[in-house]
Amino acid sequence: MDPLELLDLDGTLSAEDRDMRAVVRQVVDERVRPHVAGWYEDGRVPVRELAAEFGKLGLLGMHLTGYGCAGATATAYGLACLELEAGDSGVRSLVSVQGSLAMFAIHRYGSAEQRQRWLPPMAAGEAIGCFGLTEPDHGSDPAGMATRARRDGSDWVLSGGKMWITNAPVADVAVVWARTDDGIRGFAVPMDTPGVTAREIKHKMSLRASSTGEIVLDDVRLPDDARLPGAEGLKAPLSCLTEARYGIIWGALGAARDCLTTAIDYATSREQFGRPIAGFQLTQAKLADMALELQKGYLLARHLGTLADRGRLRPEQVSVGKLNNVREAIAIARQCRTILGANGISAEYPVMRHANNLESVLTYEGTSEVHQLVIGQKLTGLSAFV
Ligand SMILES: Cc1cc2nc3c(=O)[nH]c(=O)nc-3n(C[C@H](O)[C@H](O)[C@H](O)COP(=O)(O)OP(=O)(O)OC[C@H]3O[C@@H](n4cnc5c(N)ncnc54)[C@H](O)[C@@H]3O)c2cc1C
Repeated sequence: MDPLELLDLDGTLSAEDRDMRAVVRQVVDERVRPHVAGWYEDGRVPVRELAAEFGKLGLLGMHLTGYGCAGATATAYGLACLELEAGDSGVRSLVSVQGSLAMFAIHRYGSAEQRQRWLPPMAAGEAIGCFGLTEPDHGSDPAGMATRARRDGSDWVLSGGKMWITNAPVADVAVVWARTDDGIRGFAVPMDTPGVTAREIKHKMSLRASSTGEIVLDDVRLPDDARLPGAEGLKAPLSCLTEARYGIIWGALGAARDCLTTAIDYATSREQFGRPIAGFQLTQAKLADMALELQKGYLLARHLGTLADRGRLRPEQVSVGKLNNVREAIAIARQCRTILGANGISAEYPVMRHANNLESVLTYEGTSEVHQLVIGQKLTGLSAFV
């Protein structure tokens, strides 16, 4: 059985959400699953084709309203992330970065002209966006960023570099965060602006079906209307991260579900000592414990989705979800790998790919340690960040 259906939670979803989920599951089955092991091995993914496909389905900026966005509920968006990540974390990352980071930043903080220029083609998957916050020397602590934006007449001149930026090598626009004399500000930077270069980061052992890059900004001159007028200070990019982290809470469960269904299928057909390995008590104990954690993570995601749909989801609650669900998903992926034995390390099965991908998911959008510190601060009233 579907390990996510142990508690009959499907009945508590709306028919509309179930239908949407079925559509996303089908597109993942048809357009991702048959190819993803090859993309992963080659370290190449057809971002533009996938974006066009997802755009047609309304999955890009799905939870935003207007400008061609679907205006879906947070729960529906979460369900879509779960199904996408059951295909591959890299594919879900494409959608998260496009919708929750780049589009959200422009939607929330951009001018009317910026929204009109970028959001409709991004919702359709015709324009690809990326989000440049991390730098080579500033990851968990983006407040220390070295990228500068200085005024020159009515223009801005950006210099610096961003590292580990999803979609950067294929992007049409980058939302770039830079330090100004008045604090941190955001800019919508067309990637064809002179002085902008993006280089693909090679030799990744995780999230290989995702394009990750480094952006170099070499005295990039931009008009003032490239600045996101509503974004002032670090709280602006952090609010975007809260959006993307929300999707990860659901997405990680998709990777874990795919591992667990694979392990159950494998264990019921693989025989050792004259019987299916699923019949051994030690295997069943593993399967039962994993199903429990999967269900608990799903209940958590559903609860946080309900809070988000009521407009009451707080950042530390998102930290609870991200910390728990990614940590448990990675534990499930590793345990499932043991059930597949030697086949567990083969690309013929998705388990090792998911496990490796989840190493990135554990690190990006706030490491586990950062989320522990967020929760610890809420519990104690004391900041242990520095
Ligand atoms: C595949 C991939 C895609 C990514 N995509 C993007 C993207 O699109 N846009 C973007 O801006 N960034 C992106 N990132 C970057 C990601 O957000 C950062 O890697 C992450 O924030 C961690 O930063 P770091 O790698 O510099 O690690 P560091 O910050 O150097 O942390 C290293 C270790 O130190 C720990 N640590 C740091 N500070 C503390 C502390 N105060 N207390 C305790 N422990 C601490 C961390 O938890 C971690 O274990 C991506 C990363 C990956 C791997």
